[in-house]
Amino acid sequence: MNKKIVVIGGGYGGLRAVEFLAKYEDIDITLIDKNPYHYLQTEAYGYIAGRFDMHDIVIDLQEWCDGFNKKVIFIYDKATSIDFKAQSVQTRSTSIAYDYLVIATGAKTNFFSFIQGLREHSYGVKDLRRAYNFRVEFENLIYKKLQDKESCEDINLAIGGAGLSGVEVAAEMANTIEMYKKTIGNRVKTIKIYLIDASKTILPGMSDFLICNTQKRLESLGVNILVDTFIERMDESYIYFKNSQKLKYHFMIFTGGIKASDLNDKVEAQKNKISQFIPNRELNIGSQINVFAIGDCVEIKDINGNILPPTAQTAERSAEYVANMIRKRIDKKSVQPFDATVLGIFIALGGRWAAGELFGVIKVKGYVAYLLKKAITHIYYLGLHLRINAGYKNRIKDPR
Ligand SMILES: Cc1cc2nc3c(=O)[nH]c(=O)nc-3n(C[C@H](O)[C@H](O)[C@H](O)COP(=O)(O)OP(=O)(O)OC[C@H]3O[C@@H](n4cnc5c(N)ncnc54)[C@H](O)[C@@H]3O)c2cc1C
Repeated sequence: MNKKIVVIGGGYGGLRAVEFLAKYEDIDITLIDKNPYHYLQTEAYGYIAGRFDMHDIVIDLQEWCDGFNKKVIFIYDKATSIDFKAQSVQTRSTSIAYDYLVIATGAKTNFFSFIQGLREHSYGVKDLRRAYNFRVEFENLIYKKLQDKESCEDINLAIGGAGLSGVEVAAEMANTIEMYKKTIGNRVKTIKIYLIDASKTILPGMSDFLICNTQKRLESLGVNILVDTFIERMDESYIYFKNSQKLKYHFMIFTGGIKASDLNDKVEAQKNKISQFIPNRELNIGSQINVFAIGDCVEIKDINGNILPPTAQTAERSAEYVANMIRKRIDKKSVQPFDATVLGIFIALGGRWAAGELFGVIKVKGYVAYLLKKAITHIYYLGLHLRINAGYKNRIKDPR
């Protein structure tokens, strides 16, 4: 009898796991997601700044699953709990049995409760609805500027958190404003971008090459960088800092921290301070050898024991490893621990400019890095599209 694999979460990790497992004849897969679409969060910076459109950053999950010729069932529902003993996942409307389970539910923005007013007055970009709201706000602001020729009042847009997503969002918005300056000139000159972080530098934990070149690029785009600056509280008009200064702002995006998705709170397993699962070396959780967690919902360490930042790359690599592990467990073969070495990182820094590192030795910046980053995204996107086109064709033949 075929083995039943359930994957919860159709993000970067979940889709990669499905793709890798679907090639086996003796495996049936069910993918569950609370949204009907896969959201390409890594491209959110371009969407909110108006460079990409909605169709560039979402993929329909039903169509994508249909591309596997009935091998993968998609359930559009929210997983609410897991019963390890009964080997089943409860959703809002049903219960689904599994032989092997992959939890890939990602993370959400951590609007720290110790920063008063943060949740009420800022946006996150980790879910599509919030990114959409923000894009609309940004466009409205530009439109208002077009109408209001006389106003010379500064309009400050704040980004809290200068990690990977924060610097990408700041750079792309600043670049968009630069583009507008060429057509509507001075009217957008008063829109200012502030990038704020409590750490001593931007991109804390990353290499000097990335920090230094990102900083230079952001400065050349006119981004105001406030590091070593701790946000204490916010109200509808001002951001108040610990150093007693304050900043009047129009709107704020918060990218300063993540927290594992809600499902983790319902699962009996060891977790860290931000609710991520702490797995064993084979990425099993809760002492269950048939339950795995991958991507942002789990704390992943490299071979030296350093906790890795949550990235799509790590989500995908952990997914490939777990798919391979499941195969080995089915075949009763010996298994190796997960090696989460980071291969490289590319940071989009507005327009046709990026900075990146590959295998720790190749360091690139500017247009070449942009081309490499674009190629990586394009390959990912093309893979999804080939599958979705196959799904669409299947759907036409299938009279469901
Ligand atoms: C602006 C921005 C820029 C970024 N840039 C980069 C970059 O350049 N490079 C890089 O490597 N990473 C980047 N990242 C990080 C990257 O997007 C994440 O690390 C990645 O999305 C994690 O993948 P995942 O599969 O773990 O989770 P996700 O992609 O978040 O997917 C989780 C899925 O689980 C679903 N889900 C959650 N809870 C439930 C539930 N209870 N039931 C059913 N479904 C559920 C969600 O709907 C979602 O589809 C960026 C992130 C942001 C926000």
